[in-house]
Amino acid sequence: MYIDSHAHLEGKRYDADRDEVLARAKQSGIEGYLAIGNGDGPDTADCGIRLVEKYDGKLEYPRIWASVGIHPHEASLANDAADAKMLEWARHTKVIAWGEIGLDYYYDHSPREVQKAVFQRQMELARAAKLPIIIHCRASDNSENAWYDCLAMIAEHWTASALGGILHCFTGSVEHARRALDMGFMISFAGNITFPKAQNIRDAAQIIPFDRMLIETDSPYLAPIPHRGKRNEPAFVTEVARQIGDLRHLPEEEVGAQTSRNFYKFFGLAP
Ligand SMILES: [Zn+2]
Ligand SMILES: [Zn+2]
Repeated sequence: MYIDSHAHLEGKRYDADRDEVLARAKQSGIEGYLAIGNGDGPDTADCGIRLVEKYDGKLEYPRIWASVGIHPHEASLANDAADAKMLEWARHTKVIAWGEIGLDYYYDHSPREVQKAVFQRQMELARAAKLPIIIHCRASDNSENAWYDCLAMIAEHWTASALGGILHCFTGSVEHARRALDMGFMISFAGNITFPKAQNIRDAAQIIPFDRMLIETDSPYLAPIPHRGKRNEPAFVTEVARQIGDLRHLPEEEVGAQTSRNFYKFFGLAP
């Protein structure tokens, strides 16, 4: 059994076949997934909750939990009214995390100073909601700039909360992973771990304690080989498990089982 710790299935790309995508996930052994609540910006950050309300608890589909938060891409859209609305959504019983939040210096869709201010504010809100955070961190090419800022901000504004978090779609170095582990974070690996150029990700996946890792698809993005270039879906999380299994000389099923246990334990959920 597997848990996809991070997917965005609310978008138009799934409107024609969302039921089939979720049924296919269940048939492939995906017992649950975390529906990320970023939407197109704070006004639609309840998108994960809406998926929970439509699909969770039905036997033909995986279990679903949700998050809420403002992605760094949409940091420019943050305002006080959006904060209040998200705090309200965060009280939903199936909302288990705040995110994804963080810094993206690769695309720079929002100015970096705005990204930083909003990231700090999102951590304050997560703390008020008593939820762990899901971090999106992407540096610009051949740089560690976003990692440097992101890890420093977590150390300054988050670690004392003891609520922990997840570094999602990990793309950093072994050193970044170690620092995050020291601050109580889980590390989640996505389909890009299968890409030929991603040796740094595979290096990290080899050293991270087995009880601190999660797997995800980040659907619809980053479909793993052999689906690379296509729309991603939760059923493909087995390819991430297969890659980690190859690195650690374990069957993919064992990677699935351990990362599922890690997910339940981290969020304090009953399996
Ligand atoms: Zn992300
Ligand atoms: Zn994402």
